[in-house]
Amino acid sequence: MGATEAFLKTITEAIRPDKRIGIAEWSEQHRILPESSPEPGKWRNERTPYLVGIMDALSGQPSAVTRYAHDDERPFDNSRVITVGLMKGHQLGGSALGENFIGRCITTAAGNILAVFATYDDAEKWEMDRFEPMRSSTPDLRRRVRDAMKKGSENTKLRKKFPGGLMNLVSATKAGRLKSTTVRYVLLEEIDEYVLNVDGQGNPIELARNRTSNFGRRAKIFANSTPTIKRRSQIEKLYETGDQRRYFVRCPDCGSPQFFDWRKGMRRSPDDPRVVLYYCQTGCGAGNPESVWKTRGYVGAYWMPTAAGDGKTASFHLSALYAPLGWRPWSDLMDDWEAAQTDTEKMIAFVNNALAECWEDKSAEMKWEVIKRRAEPYKLRTIPLGCLMLTCAVDTQNDRLEAEISGWGRGMRNWTIDHVVFRGDPSLPEVWRKLDEYLETPIVNQFGVSMRVELCAVDSGGGRTQDVYDYCRVRRHRGVFAVKGAKDKHKPIIGRPTDQDVTVKGKTYKNGVQLWPIGTDTAKSRIFGALVADDEQEVNDRRIHFSTDLDDEYFEQLTAEAYNPSKDRWDRLRKRNEALDLKVYNFACAYHPRLRLNTYSEADWSALEAVIEPRVMDLFSAAPADAADPASKAGAARTELARGILRDVAERLGPEHPKHDELMELASKPVEDPLPIASPPAAPEPAPQSGGWIPRRDNWLRR
Ligand SMILES: [Zn+2]
Repeated sequence: MGATEAFLKTITEAIRPDKRIGIAEWSEQHRILPESSPEPGKWRNERTPYLVGIMDALSGQPSAVTRYAHDDERPFDNSRVITVGLMKGHQLGGSALGENFIGRCITTAAGNILAVFATYDDAEKWEMDRFEPMRSSTPDLRRRVRDAMKKGSENTKLRKKFPGGLMNLVSATKAGRLKSTTVRYVLLEEIDEYVLNVDGQGNPIELARNRTSNFGRRAKIFANSTPTIKRRSQIEKLYETGDQRRYFVRCPDCGSPQFFDWRKGMRRSPDDPRVVLYYCQTGCGAGNPESVWKTRGYVGAYWMPTAAGDGKTASFHLSALYAPLGWRPWSDLMDDWEAAQTDTEKMIAFVNNALAECWEDKSAEMKWEVIKRRAEPYKLRTIPLGCLMLTCAVDTQNDRLEAEISGWGRGMRNWTIDHVVFRGDPSLPEVWRKLDEYLETPIVNQFGVSMRVELCAVDSGGGRTQDVYDYCRVRRHRGVFAVKGAKDKHKPIIGRPTDQDVTVKGKTYKNGVQLWPIGTDTAKSRIFGALVADDEQEVNDRRIHFSTDLDDEYFEQLTAEAYNPSKDRWDRLRKRNEALDLKVYNFACAYHPRLRLNTYSEADWSALEAVIEPRVMDLFSAAPADAADPASKAGAARTELARGILRDVAERLGPEHPKHDELMELASKPVEDPLPIASPPAAPEPAPQSGGWIPRRDNWLRR
């Protein structure tokens, strides 16, 4: 067949009426997964059976794997569906579904396609990592879409011609590209990452959708996303507009249909904690492992709407619990879930990525009185047990400085150690002298160890920027640094510093100071996440601790802002919010590359504890009675464990450290010897100072 003939053949194919082939059928017949994919070779619907019902809806075809009711087995009519919304977790093959949709559109029911991505980078990445591998490995597509790299193909990375249509890959950040052409098919990738309003012309999803109006019911729109924040999430909105289909599997024991609900049914097996079981929720209550649910339980599984919806939107919820065997196992998810119990950031990730649910921000419901009631009876400028590191934050106003010293312990537990106001104009030296004196005064803990502020963040965003720069410029070696809230949203708590010129008394110091950007919204999410989670915690497990010495004003300022999901920003509820800002800057200190407390392992904290709370013998004395009895098995085991920790700590400190020999000696003491019991000295004596604010503990602080 000559080139012209072949071309005519494809044209003929393109202009004849749509073949009645659905996306699922097309995928199985034509789609070849590239070598680079986790499961290369022919596409098999049986691998990800839950995707079939979604593809049926997107094809507008009757679905044999979708039901009207549990006892109604008639094929489900999808002929009125125009929009399909998929709220999905990670690693389910959901992205491949969008590719199949595009592949089938190009080959069997040609028409113009608009594919929208959050950014240009995302569009280019999709073309390179998703579309091009599919095109080059699938002969049916290769025939129709020429290689963009070949001369004269007329195709570019973001614009693909094929017989009967054109596909444009655009970014949701430019209204013009979203409004330009009439299209029949729209792919909306990861819509929760989109801007809410593009160039002041409205929601990019609506702009793209409007392009299809000429096609009526023949138009098809596929939107997918991992959900983000409740009431801001675009995919959640779409899911609620639609008929909210859930994937029902059958209990392997009693056959009762149900969809997986992590919080209700997922538990570790009481017989073997390494095994994770899902317990039947609608029938017999029996627990079965993943391998059984995903074989016997998947036989005859189906989608079913759980709401009426608008009649033209089919919406689907798909959590990571459904992933095929051999992908991400339930036991990994359980590990994540358990780690997330004390880490808000991880919990948000788990709820979004594994459960495919929105995270509900509760900062607006946080009442200052509630937090004040949690205050604990320790005095300001005293160090509670477990507090092993101090940081300081300074807020600058035109007539004063405000400072908070925060304490840090295991698992990033935080204490407000002190909160003070220094009156005076920061353009004059007096108030800075007071701050110097404040920072230089150590605080002695219950073990007689003198603790100093390791890092101090000073806000430069007020009206006295140059004075802040100058103060930080000459105190950099002491761990004092300038910070400023980052302009963009969703930035890391502390970013990369930039060099700034400092002009003081007419003299300019080129690049005299480093300015560190702070992701204030990220930090606030984390702080409020911890405050909300602390509501259900025992005192010792709380993430953020407060002293009863703090007054009402402090707690009112701390809760002076709340997240506004519809605007994706923090709104100020009260005029004064310094206490919240100070907490944000203290968190920035903890994440600063010089400390990185967020990366500390248990061994790191133990090493720090050995220096700050030197009561190593307590390892022996604190153990219950059986430890004192070396003959008992448990006692001997515990003693051996304690010895191991002692040796480990001694090695970390290094042979030069004053505590090294003492620890090694303790570790090698014979068991028969009664072990000495350490107690805090009656009258704490400050340990001798070592010069600057950063003690020479580089051995672990600098790793
Ligand atoms: Zn059952």
